[in-house]
Amino acid sequence: MMQTSSPIMDLRPEPQNDLAQRSHALLIENENLRSKLDYLIDQASINHGIMRRHQAFDLEIVSANSFPELISIIFRNLPLISELDIVTLTLLDQGADIHTVMRNLGVNFDEFPNLLFVDSEEQLGPMLAPVSLMPALYRPAMGPFDPALHRAMFPATLLTPDSVAIVPLLRNKQRIGTLNLGSLDAARFTPTLGTDFIEHMASIIAICLENVISNEMLKYIGLTDALTGVYNRRYIDRRLLEEIGRARRQGYEISLMYLDIDLFKNVNDSYGHPAGDEVLREMARRIQSELRVSDALARFGGEEFVVLLIDASLDSAAVVAERIKASVAGKPFVLCDGTSIAMTASLGVASATQADHVDAAEIMAKKLIAKADHALYAAKAGGRNKVVCCD
Ligand code: GH3
Ligand code: MG
Ligand code: MG
Repeated sequence: MMQTSSPIMDLRPEPQNDLAQRSHALLIENENLRSKLDYLIDQASINHGIMRRHQAFDLEIVSANSFPELISIIFRNLPLISELDIVTLTLLDQGADIHTVMRNLGVNFDEFPNLLFVDSEEQLGPMLAPVSLMPALYRPAMGPFDPALHRAMFPATLLTPDSVAIVPLLRNKQRIGTLNLGSLDAARFTPTLGTDFIEHMASIIAICLENVISNEMLKYIGLTDALTGVYNRRYIDRRLLEEIGRARRQGYEISLMYLDIDLFKNVNDSYGHPAGDEVLREMARRIQSELRVSDALARFGGEEFVVLLIDASLDSAAVVAERIKASVAGKPFVLCDGTSIAMTASLGVASATQADHVDAAEIMAKKLIAKADHALYAAKAGGRNKVVCCD
């Protein structure tokens, strides 16, 4: 008789202690998974928070519409959102153009000790990646603070970090500067740390910097006279209104000087227009060298200049005007071809005192310019090479 074979199944119940062991193991595994999940959820929520803070930061820097505003946001917010102990910014500024223009636009660099300027590309530090990695030629360099490499980015007057990230700011594959991140935690920046996030942030900062710098440059060009480099009429008109407002609040006097070169037409007629241009440039230099930094010199058009003197009485403005008159007449103007021309100038001076503040600022500004112009007319009528003050 044939026997059919069937799989042998052990249907006997598991011993009680095996079951207990297995369910205990499952419980532990479950707990481990749960705590891993909790950790991942925590991390995700931390990362979400970081992303949100960075997005808010991106929006804020994108909407900054002046150079000082952008720089302030970077220095105020970046250390907070990225939990950094020190942030500095190095800008490549060949010929100090950016620095000069910003200073002339009224930026006070004392407010930004963490803003550094270098004159040449080499001063930004060595190339940070092998050339084979082009076009991503410049990569962030991260690691412990090394005085020999990083002191220039973290001057001794500022906090010295323990680990740093030097992040190139790139436009058109060229470095326009570096963003220098420092932490007192030596383990914060290590050479193997991922750089995607930092590079993304640096690329937005670089675009914003380039934008505000070129906007400020355009603003500056719109407020200066191309021939002499001093301010133009538009600048003085605007500045005068601001200064009248400030003088009204703080109770000081402002004075205005109107200068017209005497018989300037003769220079053009005798030596040619380019010679006349040279005289105008030299005239601007001579006037400027008699002024304080708080005074503003503008070419008002043709051969006329205006000086706005802040916190200066009529008497003290008259002294400056006499100095300018003497400086012009004292030495002939020597052109680059050696031609020597004797020049004189006539000046009218007027002041705005507290009594004048009954008028609106615009009216007060017009009256002040008209008074100085009137005094200038009197100086011309009185024989030229004269200073006349309008009481
Ligand atoms: P006055 O003493 O009465 O002021 O005589 P003036 O010859 O200085 O005055 P006038 O207004 O007759 O002449 C001003 C001249 O300035 C005429 C104009 O051709 C010249 N001028 C205006 N702008 C420029 C400029 O940008 N470059 C040069 N070279 N000349 C200019
Ligand atoms: Mg004139
Ligand atoms: Mg003239």
